[in-house]
Amino acid sequence: MRQTVVELLERNAEHASEFESRFDDVQDSQEPDVVTVCCSDSRVLQDAMWGNADPGRVFTCGNIGNRVVQRTDDGEAVSGDVLYPVAHTGTETVVVVGHTGCGAVTATYDDLTEGLDEPAGIEHCIGLLAPRLEAGVEALPDDLSRPEAVNRLVEYNVDRQVEFLLESNEILDDVDVVGVVYDFQDVYSDRRGEVQVVNVDGETDVESLRVDHPEIESRIRRLWEY
Ligand SMILES: [Zn+2]
Repeated sequence: MRQTVVELLERNAEHASEFESRFDDVQDSQEPDVVTVCCSDSRVLQDAMWGNADPGRVFTCGNIGNRVVQRTDDGEAVSGDVLYPVAHTGTETVVVVGHTGCGAVTATYDDLTEGLDEPAGIEHCIGLLAPRLEAGVEALPDDLSRPEAVNRLVEYNVDRQVEFLLESNEILDDVDVVGVVYDFQDVYSDRRGEVQVVNVDGETDVESLRVDHPEIESRIRRLWEY
């Protein structure tokens, strides 16, 4: 057995003793306040970013590139992972969480600019992102470095995922859909781990967002208003 697993189990034992009584209210059911769709990147701490250690509060979905789209026999649909809590547990807030330096967005950028050779499973994921990022890649300003381009596409990708949810018939109008970017690379500010709100229900104009949502005004920031 690799030491990794031994260490995981040691930490899990600590978790179990710490959480012994915290499941009392949610042992048989859940009504999470929010469903988050994060990139699976190991640096994106899906619960810890919200200071969450309450079981039953945050329904967490993770995949590379924080995608909300699934391909089905009937065409593209809202991913079941995202839809489940909205359809079945009364969850009325969806937060799409992109992050600075995203590898999946970088791979999609490479795919669209140079082509990419990846195993089928990874290509499938990139294939779900690429059609949504194509226009974004074309609209990028010319004078950007590669990391700067990727971080703008991270916002663009969050916007497209939010858009897909808003346009779907399965996410009803009373569900709030928010797009954010998790920054651990000092791109938006020097507060590593801080989340910036880039999209609320499809609105991406920073001034409008700040007027409409004064209570979170200081947390609304974008790199790119295309
Ligand atoms: Zn990522």
